[in-house]
Amino acid sequence: MNFSRYLIPTLKENPSDAEVVSHQLMLRAGLIRKLAGGIYTWLPMGLRVLRKVEAIVRQEMNAAGAQELLMPGVQPAELWRESGRWDFYGRELLRFVDRHDNEYCLAPTHEEVITDLARREIQSYRDMPLNLYQIQTKFRDEIRPRFGVMRAREFLMKDAYSFDASEDAAAQSYQIMRQAYMRIFDRLGLRYGVVEADSGSIGGSFSHEFMVLADTGEDAIVSCPACGYSANLEKAPVRLADAPAAAPKAELQEVATPAAHTALQVAKFLKTKPKSIAKTMIYIADGKAVAAMVRGDREVNEVKLKNILGADVLELAGPSAIVEVTGGPVGFSGPVGLTIPVYADAELAQIPWLVVGANKADAHYTGFNLGRDAAGATIADLRNLAAGDPCPSCGAPPTLARGIEVGHIFRLGTKYSKALGATYLDVDGQAKTIVMGCYGIGVSRIVAAAIEQGNDEAGIVFPLAIAPVSVAVLPMRAEGPAMEAAQRLHDELWALGVDCLLDDRDIRPGVKFKDSDLLGVPLRVVVGPKGLETGEVELKKRTAPQPEMIPMAQAATIIAKLV
Ligand code: ATP
Ligand code: MG
Ligand code: MG
Ligand code: MG
Repeated sequence: MNFSRYLIPTLKENPSDAEVVSHQLMLRAGLIRKLAGGIYTWLPMGLRVLRKVEAIVRQEMNAAGAQELLMPGVQPAELWRESGRWDFYGRELLRFVDRHDNEYCLAPTHEEVITDLARREIQSYRDMPLNLYQIQTKFRDEIRPRFGVMRAREFLMKDAYSFDASEDAAAQSYQIMRQAYMRIFDRLGLRYGVVEADSGSIGGSFSHEFMVLADTGEDAIVSCPACGYSANLEKAPVRLADAPAAAPKAELQEVATPAAHTALQVAKFLKTKPKSIAKTMIYIADGKAVAAMVRGDREVNEVKLKNILGADVLELAGPSAIVEVTGGPVGFSGPVGLTIPVYADAELAQIPWLVVGANKADAHYTGFNLGRDAAGATIADLRNLAAGDPCPSCGAPPTLARGIEVGHIFRLGTKYSKALGATYLDVDGQAKTIVMGCYGIGVSRIVAAAIEQGNDEAGIVFPLAIAPVSVAVLPMRAEGPAMEAAQRLHDELWALGVDCLLDDRDIRPGVKFKDSDLLGVPLRVVVGPKGLETGEVELKKRTAPQPEMIPMAQAATIIAKLV
């Protein structure tokens, strides 16, 4: 594998449009290139990383007894109408019409198609347990694609679906997947947590997310050091400990509404960094705030709002996740005296009146005054809030951390099988509804998440398991004895099954060092004139401060043992 022949377009400068370090480094290391918003090409080195992640996921899924299949990315609207999600899913679902005027969508997920398959192919209890998975391209028309492949519109997902004859059996299938996921993330060399999660637009009774811990993560995780309880903030919103007392002080009035099921601290979130309020939405109708929501899926909220307001949610403005609604009557909260065309954080602090949710289902407060009732709230306040709010499991004070959702497993129950009529014949010949689970892993997001956790000033620090190559061999000159020895070592390594890149370019050694570090190659071998005299090469681990000299004759076997 010769560097000179490969497309590895590394960049010296940080691209100006990349906000987070993983996005910057993926561009700089020549792993990806942008085609359109949230749509990326994987270049040869990036694809090698992606394929390694994919291989680990595939191995562990197979080992857990799941069977691989491949479903279409284009799906008929009919199936989505049967499940009820054609209307429910909102605008993340990209829809189109074919030449015969039939409606289709680009699949954001595959519950409908797999359940359709199950209702045709699963006849009896003997056909289960069954677990089917695929590694396939998904499309979600994300309202705000960003951070490169982290929140893309087109991305690679592993999605598995389990089919069982009873809730007990389904619980077992869920546990098997949970274990498999832990093996996958262990092997990937990531620091992660497993947290209780909200089921969002997929639905079902309960779910767990696998979170890669990183400060740039869009999700907030509440964890209890005392009992180990851990949940996504979406699932276990931290509440103002004194919410009822705060109400009269703020002259809040609780109003019943089916729309604004949310929490009082929405307003507090507003004054924190945009990242921390990715899940917070203030909806503005006709220039007036009509609702704030912190829970659930943005698209689902928008559909709910659309139903209530009879209006289209038009656009998301600014970095603070504010959605503008126009064209319909303000159906439930009434005008609250707010007209703001700008939505940056600084301006948010100036918003005089907002409608915020109460700590209660189907209710919200009117008359909330941001400046008065949540003045000066910061991330630190948020932590205190979390600390002030007892752990739902043991009552001890929990802590708050940020994470990147890389996996999500769901107990679906009979949500889809009931809607689509997927039944089987039980032992006694009775028709019963199949019990399902579904299990997603963001294969492409994992690459970005790994880089968020593994990087330094010089570039990416990939875990060995997913590095584009395990070894880079750097001859100090592109011809002569150094080059010949490097070529021999490169060939020996490949013969031993070690993937290795030979930097045969005729350029300054310094550039070779930089590129090898930027790419995050775990082991670097330098073949130079001095070493040639003493019969040694210089071996350096990406994470070690200093190189070591090893005998050239044994170099290949020594290195092969390290990978
Ligand atoms: P998020 O909360 O980040 O929007 P999600 O909960 O909508 O994710 P799921 O429906 O649970 O996502 O999909 C399974 C997995 O697919 C997620 O855990 C995540 O790793 C990955 N994923 C989801 N959306 C994206 C995206 N836009 N870009 C890259 N990966 C994604
Ligand atoms: Mg999503
Ligand atoms: Mg999520
Ligand atoms: Mg999810």
